[in-house]
Formats: sequence, C-alpha cells, structure tokens
Amino acid sequence: MQSLTFRCPDDFHVHLRQGAECGNFARDARAAGFARVLVMPNTLPPITTAAALNSYRREIEVAAPGLSALMTFKIHPKLDRVALAALKAAGAVAGKLYPEGVTTNSEDGVRRLEDAYGVFALMEELNLVLCLHGEHPEAFSLDREAAFVTGLAGLRSAFPRLKIVLEHVSSVAGLEAVLADGPLTAATVTVHHLLYTLDDMVGGKLDPHLFCKPLLKRPEDRKRLVEAALSGSPKVFFGSDSAPHTREHKESALCSAGCYSMPVSLSLLVSLFEAYGALNCLEPFVSRFGAEFYGLTLNQGIVTFVKEPWTVSKLYHGVVPLQSGATLPWSLDSSQGV
Ligand SMILES: [Zn+2]
Repeated sequence: MQSLTFRCPDDFHVHLRQGAECGNFARDARAAGFARVLVMPNTLPPITTAAALNSYRREIEVAAPGLSALMTFKIHPKLDRVALAALKAAGAVAGKLYPEGVTTNSEDGVRRLEDAYGVFALMEELNLVLCLHGEHPEAFSLDREAAFVTGLAGLRSAFPRLKIVLEHVSSVAGLEAVLADGPLTAATVTVHHLLYTLDDMVGGKLDPHLFCKPLLKRPEDRKRLVEAALSGSPKVFFGSDSAPHTREHKESALCSAGCYSMPVSLSLLVSLFEAYGALNCLEPFVSRFGAEFYGLTLNQGIVTFVKEPWTVSKLYHGVVPLQSGATLPWSLDSSQGV
C-alpha cells in the first residue's frame, strides 16, 4: 500500500500548555492532521471555571484555525453544582481527576477517590465524562496503575451511569479492568505506550524524552496494549498524551514527565498498524471510537498519508519530539487533507 486516506482523526488527550507556547502546540496538532483534540486542564492555574475554560478554548481556536478544542476541567472536591453546571454550559465535555502528586502540576490533586464522590455524582447527572489519571500515588511506580484500578469496580457500582475513561492505559492490569467493565468504561492509549517499554528509556543510556507518567512498562504490557488497539474494541481509542516540555527542562536533573508525540503520532500509528496487517482498524481507533464514546458527531474531513519518507525535526519550539531526527516512512499529504 502506497497511500492511505481516512476520516480526520481526534486526539482524546493532549496538553497544549499556555501563553505563546499554546498557539504553537495547537498549530502543530492541526498540522499533524488532527481535527479535534481533548485538551487537558493542568495549566497553572488549572482550568476549574467556565470563564477560564472559555478563554482557553478561544486562545486555542484562534491560534489554530480548523482545530476544534474539546474542553475539560480539573476536578477538585469543592466543585459544586453551580460551578459544574456553568462548566457544562460553557461546553466542557469531561472532568479530569489527578491523584495528588502523580504527574505535572498535580500537587493539588485529589487524595482519595471518595473525596470527589460528590463531584462524580453531579458529573453523572450532567453527563460529563470522568477522565482518570489512573495511578495510585502510594504504590511502587511500576505498579501504580494496577493499584489504582482495584478501585474501579467500586467507582462503577457507586456511579452506574457515569462515563469513565482510564487515560493513557499502560499495563495489562489497567486494560483488563477497563475491558471487564461495561460499555461506559473506556481507555485511551498513547503511541509511546504502544511502541516502547521501560528498557527503551533506561535499559541502556537514559533517554529523558521517553520519561512519562504512567511509566513505560514491561514487554508483556506493551504487547497487550497493541493487541487491544488492533482488536477493534470500541472501548479503546487514541489519546496521545502529547506533553511538551522544553529541551532544557527534559535534559536536566528532576526532569518532568511527558513525551512530545504530536508531530509524529499519526505517522507512527500508520506504520504500526501496517506492520500488523491491520490498517483497516486504524480509522476506528483514531477517528470513530472516541467520538462515539463521547457522543460527538464524527469529523467530516479526510487525511491522506503517503509512503514517502520524511525526517522529523530535531526540535519543535524548543521541544525535542518523539523520534527526533528520525526518518519515518509515512508522511501526511497536506495537499489532500480537508
Ligand atoms: Zn496527560
């Protein structure tokens, strides 16, 4: 196959940062072929009000015409009915739960799931999706997702109609917990968790650009994630968790977690699905299952990838991307897209 055309994709988990950087990363998303992105709220200060959500969305959509921003808010146990109804009216589609201290800007996260049960009840009533950073902060770092998902069944029985997404699923345990529940529980998968294991980050020399949360895991975890992404299950869809940090910040002591995968994620996914003879499963994974889970209409445009090698820039706005400087076989044909 030399060319592949499919419906414009969605990315159901991105970090666009704020200020001047935000426009750059939003334009990168559009240039990479995405029509719609679910924007995470862990800015400083976080997105917790309708006014902040509206102005953040405006900033993104003005900077990147053609990119539609699906907005989220950061869950805090004190969010009340008035605040949540205002967020919903402003167009929020989901709330994001960060356990305390597990990733970038989560020092003010929620300590115990039960602390936010009042908020979850209102979200269920308002049909807002609950997006989970599913790591238990007190567990050993490789086991944090497995420890967290032991609480999923309790969450489900307390809120039977709440839509729940386990973000950036990274382990067999996380995936199995999602698949064991009904159709209202889904998972996003990143391209880096599909392609790499912990050894790629620390098995030889340290590669800080692969340091992300949740951590890359064992080969058997990666294998199971790939199987799930290729399985055609509507409960598993794409969210890149593209999370830019500057080169200076990544290549230093105490570097932050996050991979900047936006510019390469679709190209890498085409190669991955091709390698498994599963290109027919790519469009549902990136362009359909997520939208259907969220109850959104599907994107109307198309993108075309052609088998023409391209070389990934070493740096995007001061950020080292995934596959920096590498030559990838599939490139976006920007003359074909809508
Ligand atoms: Zn994230």
